[in-house]
Amino acid sequence: MSDAIRPSRTAGPASALRVSFEFFPPKTEEMETALWSCVERLAPLSPSFVSVTYGAGGATRERTHATLARILDETSLKPAAHLTCVGASRAEVDEVVRGYRDIGVRHVVALRGDPPTGVGTAFTPHPHGYATSTDLVAGVRRIGDFEVSVSAYPEKHPESASFDQDIDALKAKIDAGATRAITQFFFENDVYLRYLDRVRAKGIHIPIVPGLVPVQNFRQTASFAKKTGASVPAWLAARFEGLDDDPATRRLVAAAVAAEQALDLVDRGVTDFHFYTMNKADLVFAICHMLGLRPQPAQKAA
Ligand code: FAD
Repeated sequence: MSDAIRPSRTAGPASALRVSFEFFPPKTEEMETALWSCVERLAPLSPSFVSVTYGAGGATRERTHATLARILDETSLKPAAHLTCVGASRAEVDEVVRGYRDIGVRHVVALRGDPPTGVGTAFTPHPHGYATSTDLVAGVRRIGDFEVSVSAYPEKHPESASFDQDIDALKAKIDAGATRAITQFFFENDVYLRYLDRVRAKGIHIPIVPGLVPVQNFRQTASFAKKTGASVPAWLAARFEGLDDDPATRRLVAAAVAAEQALDLVDRGVTDFHFYTMNKADLVFAICHMLGLRPQPAQKAA
């Protein structure tokens, strides 16, 4: 590989890098069209998998299922289905899992979810439901031979009293059968790498894949970050300062910020990346390009 297409000065070849993309199920026909143009643009980058979120409170149950079914029908991508414990009995959640299995989904991202009363309010399990993400991981594994991914929080989950408690909860999910964790997004790579050290020190050796969010809209991202306990460094706010009415420059800055973050992670030995695409391809495609990934000829679905 020539220097020109190396992802960075010190990293190995791009073929050693793996990416996955996260989509949300569309609500309207217009959003459906946007999602599919995003899927079509990113699919040739041969992601390891693409995941489809499960709306707060289970609100997207049918749409998540329909999106997964279309991905399986029309592409050769491997879909991962998100699922939460919120607002449903075990029997209902199990039915969703069997529905996934029956259309050919083999990978579930098992989450507790947020209470219907909003992020940050107390979580009360459904009286007949799965009480924790750990229970859900075990439930999914009982139903079928699924690969199960779970979440991880480099700045700890806002409800965890300490990092120790947070990482013990991650360990419980792994003991229940999870084989990969995908992180909440973060902007300081040191935060992720320090977390990785803590996790490894506790004897956890599954992949902890960094979740990266290209900043499509700084205000929205900052407000979402606040709710989820992800910190927004002052230097990041400074980079987007004064650009609220200048979308073109904002996009250039967003691409530069995200590429800088991803390339630094590559330099520091990271090989797997999960992108929160927000159903928009351009920034993610550009970052993957800078990581050295190139579109591969289309493969027909088996
Ligand atoms: P958990 O691992 O369940 O942790 C939540 C809290 O419970 C922590 O404080 C933890 O310490 C504690 N805990 C965990 N296990 C135990 C246990 N066994 N005993 C006692 N305490 C325990 N939300 C959606 O609604 N839909 C989605 O599709 C979705 N996708 C996501 C994907 C990723 C990669 C991430 C990082 C988050 C996603 N979320 C999604 C958000 C997530 O649902 C919320 O952050 C929610 O608040 C926590 O659920 P969790 O499974 O991530 O966390």
